[in-house]
Amino acid sequence: MNIKIQKNVLLAPQTTFKIGGEAKFFIEVFNDDNIIEAVQYAKDNNLKIFILGGGSNVLISDGGFDGLVIKIKNNGIKINDCEIECDAGVSLINLVNFSVKNGLAGLEWAAGIPGTVGGAIRGNAGAFGGEMKDSLVEIKFLNIKKDPLEMEFCSNEQCKFDYRSSIIKNNTDLILVSAKFKLKKGIAYESEKVVKETINKRLEKQPTNPSAGSFFKNPRIDKQEIIEKFESDMGMKMRGGQLPAGWFIDDLGFKGKKIGGAQVSEKHANFIINAGDATAEDIIILSSFLKQKVRDTYGIQLEEEVSRIGF
Ligand SMILES: Cc1cc2nc3c(=O)[nH]c(=O)nc-3n(C[C@H](O)[C@H](O)[C@H](O)COP(=O)(O)OP(=O)(O)OC[C@H]3O[C@@H](n4cnc5c(N)ncnc54)[C@H](O)[C@@H]3O)c2cc1C
Repeated sequence: MNIKIQKNVLLAPQTTFKIGGEAKFFIEVFNDDNIIEAVQYAKDNNLKIFILGGGSNVLISDGGFDGLVIKIKNNGIKINDCEIECDAGVSLINLVNFSVKNGLAGLEWAAGIPGTVGGAIRGNAGAFGGEMKDSLVEIKFLNIKKDPLEMEFCSNEQCKFDYRSSIIKNNTDLILVSAKFKLKKGIAYESEKVVKETINKRLEKQPTNPSAGSFFKNPRIDKQEIIEKFESDMGMKMRGGQLPAGWFIDDLGFKGKKIGGAQVSEKHANFIINAGDATAEDIIILSSFLKQKVRDTYGIQLEEEVSRIGF
């Protein structure tokens, strides 16, 4: 066997929240063969599988994960004219930098988003009007239920992208292995300027404390009185039929609200931060509290964007 299986590995340091117990088994995989071998090991030993990218959009339970965590660390990236082929384990930040350095434009919006390319495609990550789906051509993936285990491909259309969603998110049997992107010819120094501005906008608006990014999805709203209140309070129009989840939390005065070590960021109401010693339980209690208050006041059900593991 070429893969090295570790036992009882603490997962908190593998996440941007810095929260979570141990994985019973843990493997880092660096190429297609490693991925297949790891999945086969889990199947042979009847273990549940969890796929970990950069750990920037997960909340891992304090009790950890009673199965095999497969950490995706394949790291290949290559360019062919306007196309980039990129492994799922490459960090999104590296993909953005690589594209810009090679004079390709189209991914600048993603500057500063932590995590891997695999995690970003799976959740159709987005910011400042851009989304992963906008430049994706196709993905290579593995379906862990198939026998024999072999790589498959699907096109952008077959990925069924939606707001923070894709076929990979809706089917946990699928492991994203690599992806192909098509970008536009750009001018490196202009793209670099946009990247810098994008990172500065992030630093202005978002906290740097441990978190998993935006905790709740922005809800779709059709209640006219809520839309009117938002537009008059904020002096801006609702976009795409959605309102920022943070606006509801801020409107209720919960910026800074703390339960145990979990806190609503003072800087951005849709960021729940680990204020030092938060447990996963603290985060869940605070999340439930916020969901209930928003539901009671506005009749809106907030939905978590962050994936929960081991609960
Ligand atoms: C400070 C901060 C800012 C952020 N800003 C943004 C933002 O602007 N926009 C945005 O969309 N998100 C944002 N996020 C959230 C997060 O960075 C993204 O969702 C990111 O794309 C997640 O990637 P990851 O590799 O860290 O995934 P992980 O957290 O490791 O995993 C998330 C989920 O994806 C699954 N997954 C990961 N890799 C694979 C794979 N290869 N195959 C199958 N499933 C996989 C995991 O099983 C898990 O369910 C932010 C987070 C932080 C901490």
